[in-house]
Amino acid sequence: MRTVHHILTDHQLRNTSVRKEVLQLFLNKEIALSQPEIEHELDDSCDRVTIYRTLATFLEKGVIHKVLDDQGAMKYALCADTCSAEVHQHDHLHFKCTHCGTTQCIEEAIIPPIQLPAGFQLAELNVLAQGTCPDCGGGK
Ligand SMILES: [Zn+2]
Ligand SMILES: [Zn+2]
Ligand SMILES: [Zn+2]
Repeated sequence: MRTVHHILTDHQLRNTSVRKEVLQLFLNKEIALSQPEIEHELDDSCDRVTIYRTLATFLEKGVIHKVLDDQGAMKYALCADTCSAEVHQHDHLHFKCTHCGTTQCIEEAIIPPIQLPAGFQLAELNVLAQGTCPDCGGGK
């Protein structure tokens, strides 16, 4: 099982209390979280700027990745332990439940390579599927 300590050590990050708290939140929730949601979950000792910087560091180091929402809100989700500052690539689908509003990574759903016309260069791909999650009765 992955722990906060392992993730921070693997990515050579100093363990500050905010980093630990934010990571623990991602491990507990197992869904994509927006910055306001993270601010809401953490106690008042963490100010917005610190949380913002923590998320930026995590993104840069390959700890979390961006998840786009259909509302245009930016959410973040934990990367698999194969991600690092050098290799930070994702080809999995994100699934948003229209019933409970949660978005999560579906690592099993691999997006096939996208063929682009000449002149276009792909830097980042965000695919969002929408429907009902198992908790809300999907698949029943
Ligand atoms: Zn990643
Ligand atoms: Zn749901
Ligand atoms: Zn993801």
